[in-house]
Amino acid sequence: MKIAIIGAGFGGMAAAFDLRNAGHEIVIFEAADFVGGLASGFKEPHWDWSVEKFYHHWFQSDKEMLGLIRDLGWEDKVLFPRPFTVLLHDGKWYPFDSLLKALLFPGLGFGLNKIRFGLVGLYLRLTNNWKPLERVTVDAWMRKWAGAEVYEKMWEPLVIGKFGPYYKDVNMAWMWARLKARTTRLGTFEGGFQNFADLFADRLRAMGVEIRLGVAVKFIKRDPAKGLLTDAGKIESFDKVLVTTSPNLMSKMCPDLPEDYLKGLLELKSMGAVVMVLSLKRKLSEQGYYWFNLPKSADFPFLALVEHTNFVPPEKFGGDHILYAGDYLDAGHEYFSLSETQLLERFMPAFKKINPQFGRDWVKKVWLFTTNYAQPVPLLNHSKNIPAIETPVKGLYFASMSQVYPWDRGTNFAVEIGRRAARIMQG
Ligand SMILES: Cc1cc2nc3c(=O)[nH]c(=O)nc-3n(C[C@H](O)[C@H](O)[C@H](O)COP(=O)(O)OP(=O)(O)OC[C@H]3O[C@@H](n4cnc5c(N)ncnc54)[C@H](O)[C@@H]3O)c2cc1C
Repeated sequence: MKIAIIGAGFGGMAAAFDLRNAGHEIVIFEAADFVGGLASGFKEPHWDWSVEKFYHHWFQSDKEMLGLIRDLGWEDKVLFPRPFTVLLHDGKWYPFDSLLKALLFPGLGFGLNKIRFGLVGLYLRLTNNWKPLERVTVDAWMRKWAGAEVYEKMWEPLVIGKFGPYYKDVNMAWMWARLKARTTRLGTFEGGFQNFADLFADRLRAMGVEIRLGVAVKFIKRDPAKGLLTDAGKIESFDKVLVTTSPNLMSKMCPDLPEDYLKGLLELKSMGAVVMVLSLKRKLSEQGYYWFNLPKSADFPFLALVEHTNFVPPEKFGGDHILYAGDYLDAGHEYFSLSETQLLERFMPAFKKINPQFGRDWVKKVWLFTTNYAQPVPLLNHSKNIPAIETPVKGLYFASMSQVYPWDRGTNFAVEIGRRAARIMQG
């Protein structure tokens, strides 16, 4: 078969790998002039490694991602250091990257709260029965089983941070999946995620896959005689097409989809993200912390603070210290319209809270990355709203972050859905 794949993110490239191995002719169209999609990175001339535009790491439980890397023969390029994740209590940071560490966290006292927190965490880790959990919100379930105090201290800040205005509507299966699929050790690829994406694209090209960079597909239509037609400047026909973009872009690209499928796509909610990356002359966290969990009550102007060079050493970046500060936000949020400098002014007092010595003169360079599609929002009974990979248009398939539910989005699940789509397409 002659197959087009729209998008050279991890999902599109994973699908291309299996489809090409099965003997099909593959063309990947990628709107950007680089591969890797949301997991792509950038590099300064004096850096050996690239830095992801949006902070990225793998978990040891990322079986699909690690399985693909094994299939490619690059296991020796995967690194799993053990960075420190911390949570704030009474002005001090405490380790917070395993159930045991969380149990030792003093913010919960030492009475019933701690027992409830431990039991709820254990139950969610052990159960595989997520289906009933999607019928209730995180807010209601946690208040009932963990108790208001534990929930408000330990979980609510995370849900508010990730889902903003939707936080009370997010279903409990999301929280289950998040706790289920996470590990203490965090992984990356030698050279950074962009290096993996580039090597993967080179391998695909060597296998005979054609990757067209900087070529955006405008529409996909079904012609009764010629099959599926793609318009990316010129019209071409394919037997099958797999789209890996956001549901919103998919709906615009394929207006011929039946109304109920289109409506399903357009009703899916998601959050955008604004992430600032800074290269600093000095280390921000003197204790060497990597990931800071920031409770809303602590009043930071962002959700995530991540010192990347406490995960991958600064020597890989010519001695620069790399810091991320980011947030998940609705597309209309004012952060989307601020410049690097304006946002830096807003963020600097928060960096000083982590290290009072921090000053503007520490900052070598600042980059700002934004996306409207960063985090799908799973509402109640979400499994009923997931669009099928095989669309009602013959030969047209769709595999995106919004369909990996109940799992939370991640490169691991992009690979899983890409490879699943490849199987379905050959079904
Ligand atoms: C802030 C943030 C943090 C994250 N952290 C992690 C993490 O720590 N670990 C992890 O594993 N994952 C993380 N993720 C998620 C991860 O990046 C995604 O799950 C994954 O990259 C999705 O891959 P994909 O192939 O499904 O989609 P994408 O990467 O979005 O790929 C789709 C591609 O389609 C292209 N495209 C769009 N329109 C067109 C068109 N018309 N024509 C041609 N091409 C088009 C896009 O340019 C893009 O390259 C994070 C994401 C964000 C936003």
